Amino acid sequence: MNTNLLQTPIDYLKGVGPSRAELFRKELGIHTYQDLINFFPNRYLDKTKYYKINQLQQSSADVQVLGKIVAFRTIEQKRGKRLVADFVDETGKMELVWFRGQKWIRENLKLNTPYVIFGKTNWFNGLFSMAHPEMELLEEHEKSLRTAMQPVYPSSEKLTNKGITNRVINKLMQQLFIETKGKFYDTLPQNIHEDLKLISRAEALFNVHFPKSQELLARAQFRLKFEELFYIQLQLLVKNMLHKKRIKGYVFDTIGENFETFYSEHLPFQLTGAQKKVIKEIRSDLGSGAQMNRLLQGDVGSGKTIVALMSMLIALDNGFQACLMAPTEILSVQHYTGLVELCKELNTSIELLTGSTKASKRREIHEKLENGELDILIGTHALLEDKVKFKNLGLAIIDEQHRFGVEQRSKLWKKNDLPSHILVMTATPIPRTLAMSLYGDLDVSVIDELPPGRRPIKTVHRFDSNRLKVFRFIRDEIEKGRQIYIVYPLIQESEKMDYKDLMDGYESISREFPMPKYQISIVHGQMKPADKNYEMDRFINGDTQIMVATTVIEVGVNVPNASVMIIESSERFGLSQLHQLRGRVGRGAEQSYCILMSGHKLSEDSKTRLQTMVSTNDGFELAEVDLKLRGPGDLMGTQQSGVLNLKIADIVKDNQILKSARDYAKRLLTDDPNLELPEHKMVKYTYQQVAKHKNIWNYIS
Ligand code: ADP
Ligand code: MG
Repeated sequence: MNTNLLQTPIDYLKGVGPSRAELFRKELGIHTYQDLINFFPNRYLDKTKYYKINQLQQSSADVQVLGKIVAFRTIEQKRGKRLVADFVDETGKMELVWFRGQKWIRENLKLNTPYVIFGKTNWFNGLFSMAHPEMELLEEHEKSLRTAMQPVYPSSEKLTNKGITNRVINKLMQQLFIETKGKFYDTLPQNIHEDLKLISRAEALFNVHFPKSQELLARAQFRLKFEELFYIQLQLLVKNMLHKKRIKGYVFDTIGENFETFYSEHLPFQLTGAQKKVIKEIRSDLGSGAQMNRLLQGDVGSGKTIVALMSMLIALDNGFQACLMAPTEILSVQHYTGLVELCKELNTSIELLTGSTKASKRREIHEKLENGELDILIGTHALLEDKVKFKNLGLAIIDEQHRFGVEQRSKLWKKNDLPSHILVMTATPIPRTLAMSLYGDLDVSVIDELPPGRRPIKTVHRFDSNRLKVFRFIRDEIEKGRQIYIVYPLIQESEKMDYKDLMDGYESISREFPMPKYQISIVHGQMKPADKNYEMDRFINGDTQIMVATTVIEVGVNVPNASVMIIESSERFGLSQLHQLRGRVGRGAEQSYCILMSGHKLSEDSKTRLQTMVSTNDGFELAEVDLKLRGPGDLMGTQQSGVLNLKIADIVKDNQILKSARDYAKRLLTDDPNLELPEHKMVKYTYQQVAKHKNIWNYIS
């Protein structure tokens, strides 16, 4: 085991020296031998093949050609000078071109001497050319340690300017293997090695830097990706275990009158299997003695509200209060009305607290909260104000979590001596793989089944030029008694312009659908809450047939009779937002429609988004596509997450490996929770090393 040798500062590696060492530290974060070994190529060039000039193809790829320069000439053009060399082999002629460093090239490259050149070819006017080719004298080419696939390391302008080229890194890597004799201890337990037929770590490291073949490169990459993901998962799981051991929570072991009565007498419908499963998971958390910290994911319309209510009833049965926080006033009001209706036969007191609650009502709520008369409080951010003091808050539920920051989450559970249980509900599906990595400390429940009898929403894409047909369709649907949403984008930077779009749209719709036959509601962010509520109410009560709105209605609004969702400038929305909006319809028994309007000019990504919307209703499938389109960096909360500072694995592309790594990590911790067995000595050591370097959860709770 040469663990100590690997901690040697990079300065000591032959060929590095103090100034290069400084650059390595500053530019690449490489401090030790170990860091250099873990500095992985980001791609490989296939240099196994030599092309003849008459074999070159017009589809330009990287190619390697053996030949000689027979002449140089300089060509002057308006845009500047370029140096051109005629390069020949026995089959033909091509041109090499330089725009920079012409003097140096001219003085240093030899005429009529065999070179191996490498680069991308261009086809122009019947001739192939290659700009700024990599060049090596054949004589040296034959002497250098060459591998089938040539690694290309990440670089920066600064490094290149200071002469740290790919070739230099390659040389230093060779030196590193010489000094360490290529001996690297294995970090994964024997059984995993056997199960997955992994190559040894030493062999993997060698082949990732000096691949002997495509096949060994692939196995090397698999081995190293697995290891990286395995240790991240191990950390997340350990963190989760510690959380459960350390953070005590109230034990809710009574299933009492509220829950029983509601379950046996007042359930408005049969729970779906998924809802039952999730309620069971929550019950088991609440009875465990540890603080519950659970994320409930369920597509729009999957029925999260009833789960929230039943969880709150468990809290009440155990003598505690509960609260439900939603991101907007509209949504809070809707939750409030819905829950009051559901609980009307129960003996529970429920109140609503938002920014527009009157001072006198507010005082009353504060008082009842503190003396314990109030059981359930529903509301917006207003719940987080210092004046809001619960007598004994046992469960806090947060709906649509992406609207709330982590700080707010922890603020809620600090309202007590013991932290209250936390249930976070979201309709923004986070791909499971990402959820696993990001929310290792949250347990995740998924409602993966819609209530029965729902008809899938029909989604179509229409160009603005077809608007008249769309209007006709709206008219027909209104004729049948349905209601329609028409949504305009709202993007912060250009709020004024968006506002104008909305108003223009409103006007043209008012012309198309004139009063008194048609009534139209309008809701946007610049309205006072009271006006918004008034307009919403008119739509909810069926007094208006059309609701023209910005995305304020995105979240949670429930009007079962609304069956058409029209999204204007749909190309400007992200996939998850489109899906959220679509989820506003399809809540009743009628066939529902979502119409995505757009202009003809669409980017490739926009096209993919719209096509995906048309082809599937499944939120998780959409989330996966979204993740691929945008990369994990853009998804909520991932920026701060060290999880994504991966050296070799890719959280999207390697999600199969991630799953397997997680399973193995789980099994390991089940068998040996403290990593005490002798065969896990290296695992423990590596775990500690990794944990020292990566604080992967500092942003969660
Ligand atoms: P979301 O998960 O989007 O919050 P909701 O809880 O608002 O979904 O439920 C959407 C609609 O489905 C509501 O009208 C609700 O009453 C209804 N619903 C929920 N669960 C069921 C079920 N098991 N059977 C029938 N309808 C249900
Ligand atoms: Mg909801």
